[in-house]
Amino acid sequence: MAQLSLSGIKKGFGPVEVLHGIDLEIKDKEFIVFVGPSGCGKSTLLRLIAGLDTISAGEFRMNGRRMNEIAPSRRGIAMVFQSYALYPHMDVYENMAFGVRLMGLDKAEIERRIADAAQMLRLGELLKRKPRELSGGQRQRVAIGRALVRKPQLLLLDEPLSNLDAALRSDVRLEIAKLHRDIQGTTIYVTHDQVEAMTLADRIVVMNNGRVEQFGSPRELYERPANTFVAAFIGSPR
Ligand code: ADP
Ligand code: MG
Repeated sequence: MAQLSLSGIKKGFGPVEVLHGIDLEIKDKEFIVFVGPSGCGKSTLLRLIAGLDTISAGEFRMNGRRMNEIAPSRRGIAMVFQSYALYPHMDVYENMAFGVRLMGLDKAEIERRIADAAQMLRLGELLKRKPRELSGGQRQRVAIGRALVRKPQLLLLDEPLSNLDAALRSDVRLEIAKLHRDIQGTTIYVTHDQVEAMTLADRIVVMNNGRVEQFGSPRELYERPANTFVAAFIGSPR
């Protein structure tokens, strides 16, 4: 399970503070979307949650325990990067197998998980290909598959549709919604697209300039926006 508690999270790069004190309580199994304009701090916050960078101030707990007391290998977190970050010299199968081998799973279990992920993400024909031999959409599906085979308690996705063409985007969006239901974990999904946010989220975190403007269900944001920023951002067309 992955219940998250963020209190007073700040992050600076040198003298510049980019997150000014973030408080969030995220429940187990929620699909949470971070949405906000480019540069508002979404990726920075996601990277802090993933443990890829250190918090400048504040406290972050997972299931009641301080994050730094939990060994990274036991956190059950997987992240899908906007840039895919696939290993270029490994084929699709190896890209998916690498992380789970490090987790110490046996060969049969790894094969079974990859077969399941390949079927779900329509990668079955591509397992022997290298990333350079794949389209953007196929690479994105491999990146999602690589996270999926770890069966994470917490799945973090940073703008996973941004490099896909419009036709694929709605396919992959549906796949991600299904994935969330299948793995029975908590998902945090970052986007700058309010339509994605409104269609995927149980609850949405609207961010602006390193702060949370509002945290609520799509319906709450739509019907009772906390301020004019939220109203304009949620209400405005793409
Ligand atoms: P978003 O994902 O919402 O577009 P980011 O979290 O990537 O925004 O960036 C938030 C702010 O932090 C931006 O002003 C960005 O330039 C700055 N920033 C992000 N990463 C770094 C870094 N490693 N060093 C310095 N500044 C950074
Ligand atoms: Mg970003």
